[in-house]
Amino acid sequence: MADLSIKTPIAYLKGIGPQKADVINKELQIFTIGDLLEYYPFRYIDRTEFHKIRKLHADMLGAQVLGRLTSLQEVGEKRARRLIGQFRDDTGSIELVWFQSITWLKKSLQVGTAYIAYGKPTEFNGQISITHPEMERYNSQEKKIGNLTMQPVYSSTEKLKKFNLDSKGIQKLQQAALETVYRDLYEPLPSYIVEEQQLLPYPQALLAIHFPQDVQTLQAAIRRLKFEELFFIQLRLLRNKQLNTQKYRGHRFDQVGDKFTTFFNDRLPFPLTNAQKRVVKEIRVDTNTGAQMNRLVQGDVGSGKTVVALMSMLLAIDNGFQACMMAPTEILAQQHFAGISALLGDDIARVKLLTGSTPAKERRIIHQQLEDGTLDILIGTHALIEDKVKFKQIGFVVIDEQHRFGVEQRAKLWRKNTIPPHMLVMTATPIPRTLAMTMYGDLDISVIDELPAGRKPIKTVHFFENQRLRVFGFMREEISKGRQVYVVFPLIKESEKMDLLYLEAGLENLQREFPLPEFKISIVHGKLSVKDKDFEMQRFVKGETQIMVATTVIEVGVNVPNASVMIIENSERFGLSQLHQLRGRVGRGAEQSFCILMSGNKLSKEGRTRLETMVRTSDGFEIAEVDLQLRGPGDISGTQQSGVLEMKIANLAADQAILTEARSRVIEIFKEDPSLTLEKNSLLVHYLAQRNPSISWDKIS
Ligand code: ADP
Ligand code: MG
Repeated sequence: MADLSIKTPIAYLKGIGPQKADVINKELQIFTIGDLLEYYPFRYIDRTEFHKIRKLHADMLGAQVLGRLTSLQEVGEKRARRLIGQFRDDTGSIELVWFQSITWLKKSLQVGTAYIAYGKPTEFNGQISITHPEMERYNSQEKKIGNLTMQPVYSSTEKLKKFNLDSKGIQKLQQAALETVYRDLYEPLPSYIVEEQQLLPYPQALLAIHFPQDVQTLQAAIRRLKFEELFFIQLRLLRNKQLNTQKYRGHRFDQVGDKFTTFFNDRLPFPLTNAQKRVVKEIRVDTNTGAQMNRLVQGDVGSGKTVVALMSMLLAIDNGFQACMMAPTEILAQQHFAGISALLGDDIARVKLLTGSTPAKERRIIHQQLEDGTLDILIGTHALIEDKVKFKQIGFVVIDEQHRFGVEQRAKLWRKNTIPPHMLVMTATPIPRTLAMTMYGDLDISVIDELPAGRKPIKTVHFFENQRLRVFGFMREEISKGRQVYVVFPLIKESEKMDLLYLEAGLENLQREFPLPEFKISIVHGKLSVKDKDFEMQRFVKGETQIMVATTVIEVGVNVPNASVMIIENSERFGLSQLHQLRGRVGRGAEQSFCILMSGNKLSKEGRTRLETMVRTSDGFEIAEVDLQLRGPGDISGTQQSGVLEMKIANLAADQAILTEARSRVIEIFKEDPSLTLEKNSLLVHYLAQRNPSISWDKIS
């Protein structure tokens, strides 16, 4: 066995063999001994605390009892066959019940002996019992009770359990693995980092995480492994970012010219917020370095991202380049086109719109003008990325609502020039800082964290179903003042049929309360054709209808400044970021706006927290933070595809402090030693060489 290492397939480990190895490969994606050792317990049972039998109750998730087995009896037949033990301490007695492994248990358990029983107490007819308790012989001679104070629990699966690989079984494998390779484990972090961060050395940490001897060491082990994991993720991300900057030459925008200046001095109808100024400046600096820019701009709905994008595009034009801006929907593209054309007037730049519904003739003209350079700015939808769309000299690409686009679509824009254009991706879904540091760790991030002055905060209230009449009354009041109202229903694939019924019922209700000809209602949902959807939307945009009944299709970007009320039905069923996006549809005009969250009376704890958060704050970053705490990073929109979030031990919601520390440590290292040539960093070079540097811009931006 001498030459087993962490790279050896687990089949060679004592107690596994090919068949078990196969199941473990498939169920847990564990292939080597090293993989196995990185399969950490997901919790620990505190074995230091003992409960008296009299104090046991059915609400306990698990309890540990020290007592004596006073009898053991097999009862029932066939399927009802079970083994019942009486277990007693100085406060009372309970039944221990087993349905499986009866023969083996009868042989191994000894009546009259002291045991530690562990399991979940349940109650039946006022009697407490424990089914399938773990039994451990109590040895009063030993200083410690039991072999571990903290009993690790590994998650297992039904299939694994069939191969005796429950939590205990997995722990046995960990023991075998550690015994086999412990001496060969080496410290992957540079020693100066280990010292400075006061980290437990790797081999000890690994031992302690699987076989904790005391709580302090376990905690130190967890911290160390989390730090290491986050540190290496950041090392890869920042290394990648560095390589990208070196690899991709970018167009140099070295002058601020007429168009930018004219726009800024003469056309801009409002002063920029400080946040907007800062981001424009960041982009100017970035595009003048000679390296290709990849920047993510995060800014809440209404924070004024469009004008930042526009000024960046003007900068490109001033330097002899063309620019384009891609939006996820036709409606959004149209709005951007209308807004930008209005801001620019007809003399600053030549702008056109290209979408799926652009007529063929117009399309040909646009293609031609792009190629001969007559067009400066192209705004559009996916139609922009078609191969037929060729630019004379594209230098700047803006992608709005980037999470709506796939990786390949973005990459296509990237390839529209021999030297890739600068890329600015914008998102109105604020992402908590820690998440952004990891998801977009190799992009530059700008944050517009300030709303233009004079905006009236949206008033948000939560109403229950029985207050609906009040809501109708309020709608009537607002409509009589000339305002418009959104009513949004959930439409979720899994419950689509029910949802559609609910939407229909809600619509009928509204039509009764708000009858023609006085009131008109637009209806927009995903089942409509693009054309019908557009028609309905336009009626609302033009103010021909007062109420817009919709599913979440209106979530992205739609701008109707006259709409001042957002009513969200079944709001408890929406996620926080969706609620926040929906609320952002109102509050775009001068009037006081309102968001009314309707819900049933029964709310889950999480649902309640979501609604309370919405009522409490309109700060998108704060909301995103709560969302992260509630759901964990895996469910935050857009994270699934990124892969960098598949962590073995760290948790972005819980470990923000460690992440921040790890990232700033990596930044310092690159500052001191950009190409990692110092001897003390040789382990980092080694680490990077072993890893496929697969987190690339293409993959995650
Ligand atoms: P978003 O960040 O959601 O894309 P927009 O760019 O659509 O926001 O801007 C929302 C509205 O705010 C637009 O009507 C825009 O003209 C206006 N706006 C943008 N910046 C400012 C500013 N600095 N002062 C006042 N209004 C602004
Ligand atoms: Mg926008």
